[in-house]
Amino acid sequence: MKILVANLGSTSFKYGLFDMQTETELARGGIDRIGQEADSNCAVMIGGHRQEIQRPIADHAAAVQMCLDQLTDAQTGCLSSVEEVGAVGFKAVFAGKLSGVRIVDDALLDAMETLADVAPAHNPPYVKAMRQLRAAFPAIPLVAALETAFHETIPEEYRTYAVPHEWRDMYDVRRWGYHGASHRYIGTRMAQLTGRDDLKVISCHLGGSSSICAMEGGVSRSTSMGMTPQSGLPQNNRVGDMDPFALRLVKRLSGKDYDTLLDELASQGGLLGMSGVSNDLRDIEQAAERGNTQAELALKVYAADIKRYIGQFLAVLNGADAIVFTGGIGENSTRIRSNVCDGMDYVGLRINESSVQNPEASERRGETETLSEGERRISTGDSRIDVWIVPTNEEIVVARQTMNRVSRVQGPE
Ligand code: AMP
Repeated sequence: MKILVANLGSTSFKYGLFDMQTETELARGGIDRIGQEADSNCAVMIGGHRQEIQRPIADHAAAVQMCLDQLTDAQTGCLSSVEEVGAVGFKAVFAGKLSGVRIVDDALLDAMETLADVAPAHNPPYVKAMRQLRAAFPAIPLVAALETAFHETIPEEYRTYAVPHEWRDMYDVRRWGYHGASHRYIGTRMAQLTGRDDLKVISCHLGGSSSICAMEGGVSRSTSMGMTPQSGLPQNNRVGDMDPFALRLVKRLSGKDYDTLLDELASQGGLLGMSGVSNDLRDIEQAAERGNTQAELALKVYAADIKRYIGQFLAVLNGADAIVFTGGIGENSTRIRSNVCDGMDYVGLRINESSVQNPEASERRGETETLSEGERRISTGDSRIDVWIVPTNEEIVVARQTMNRVSRVQGPE
């Protein structure tokens, strides 16, 4: 079966096409600047060949259509017709109690629409693209793999806010958790790499959007994102955790209303707000190197928050076997990794980024799998906790979940 996986941002659309018999990726592409006046950047890789097109793309439905046109192009495509796609899987974000892996139906679309305040950058483009795809290709099943599903195993004591009880009972105000596909991938991959299915792993997904997850035996026990993806660690331009009572003060002093203040926190906060430079960590690192003190502070706060969550999760799990860095920042920023890992002698954690992995030592440690591109252990041989860099693969997780879902009788889980 061939599965198309769609990952939508507010102005971007990324996709991967997988042959699930062999779990091989047949094509991968992405379109950004959707709905903006400038020409969109649209790139697709099919069979190792890259094509780029630049033109305005009106909305996500037009982006999806363009992707299908590319995949079925007579000269360069890898599908003879759209009907070859067995299902489309969406890395969807939030539908409240309608969590899990679900066939896209009216109830799900209505829930995602009604609850868009929780994920304002994500739910609206997903709903729009899903509705348009359903109308255009009624024979292709659409599946939503909700980001919150992976965190359904978090015990009550780690998911409950101390809010008035009717907020929890009537409005479902609680820590839902996100980045489920990424943390699930890291849990599965660490079990493959070590040959152990009982590992305690702290997965640090650090990117444009960041969250940390405490996992035991591949199952989520606690996570840093709460009710909405605006919470937890500072995000690229979203605030992360803060005291909601600051809002009342700023409202009075600024004369702005609550909606405006929340929009500011969701678009002008996070790394952008603290650094005043950019929402991109590379720009912030460069500015800090040039002596920009606000940029320096933003990097320190970000690393300190990651460290605090790791400390919490060491307590939740009663120790850990491995800490894993993933995402654009987690995989690439040596500065953030070292700021996080420095001063963790209390758990015997030591890293050495330049150490070359010794296959015999890996074998002694029970590392059973050949490493894939980008995967490496950066802890020293005597570190009591292993520290890994493992590139995530959210798309293959969604593709697997989608295939399993369509293979079962249709209907909600
Ligand atoms: P993602 O959302 O996972 O694609 O990650 C995006 C983030 O990763 C942005 O903040 C980038 O600045 C950051 N990033 C990507 N490459 C690097 C790099 N080489 N060094 C530091 N940060 C990077």
